[in-house]
Amino acid sequence: MTSSSAPFPGLPPRIALSPSRAADFQQCPLLFRFRTIDKIPTRPAEVAVRGTLVHQVLEDLFDAPQVERTLDLAKELLQPAWTKVLEQSPDSLYVVQPEAEFIPGESHSQVTATDVEVKAWAEDAIPLLEAYFEVEDPTHLQPEAREMWLSVTSEGGTPMRGIVDRLDVAPDGRIRVVDYKSGKAPNPRFQDKALFQMKFYALMLWRQRGTLPTRLQLIYLKSKSLLTADPTEEEITNFEVQVDELWSEITEAAANQNFPPKESRLCDWCDFQAICPAKGGELPAYPVI
Ligand code: SF4
Repeated sequence: MTSSSAPFPGLPPRIALSPSRAADFQQCPLLFRFRTIDKIPTRPAEVAVRGTLVHQVLEDLFDAPQVERTLDLAKELLQPAWTKVLEQSPDSLYVVQPEAEFIPGESHSQVTATDVEVKAWAEDAIPLLEAYFEVEDPTHLQPEAREMWLSVTSEGGTPMRGIVDRLDVAPDGRIRVVDYKSGKAPNPRFQDKALFQMKFYALMLWRQRGTLPTRLQLIYLKSKSLLTADPTEEEITNFEVQVDELWSEITEAAANQNFPPKESRLCDWCDFQAICPAKGGELPAYPVI
């Protein structure tokens, strides 16, 4: 049952499309439903939490005066950054204590990681910080924004939301959108998928500021490499049509409460196999919105 007052029947109020939600739906509509509509919590993944920690350090690094942005400072920022990550997502502690039982909705206070364990775990992020300093010199950068929230509506009415890791604006007004990835650069066959997120940000910034970013830049820390693209207005206009079509598919699926499973090799990493009918599980009832 859905409320008739919901702007998009079958979807939560105030929902918006983000790059990760779009990727979920493209991978498997049922995966999108479990994450975004049922909101079923899953155990945090170590790689994701360490990525969040490194993002936090790189965000905080730019609070320091330009000349003080050194690798040593970045290492010192690890501990306070971990405190911030835990404040925002207490369940992150489960990655430090892998044997701890994860019970969705229960307090993280059940997880009793020692400070020594946390420190050892966090220090594994140091190679990623070292890699960052090999790829960029933050003493030469003065970002306009970090962790920048964007919320816009596309020409076709798609509510869009996202967080840009870093926005650099040159004195002549040219905009560079930067995103950090803790993993390796993708195989060229999968670069379009990686750039989907960056085009999403480019479209939002264009709609919000009236200026199309000139450069989209992904920084892959594990492989110490960059993936860049310089979008054109035609390309992002076509991308907007693609986003609107995707949103239309999502709203139609929600109106019919029909998010079919779409099997692929990625199912092996899916947290919802036990409740997926394609894997022999029993599909939960559609939630009351
Ligand atoms: S197991 Fe596969 S088909 Fe089922 S929800 Fe997950 S990704 Fe979709």
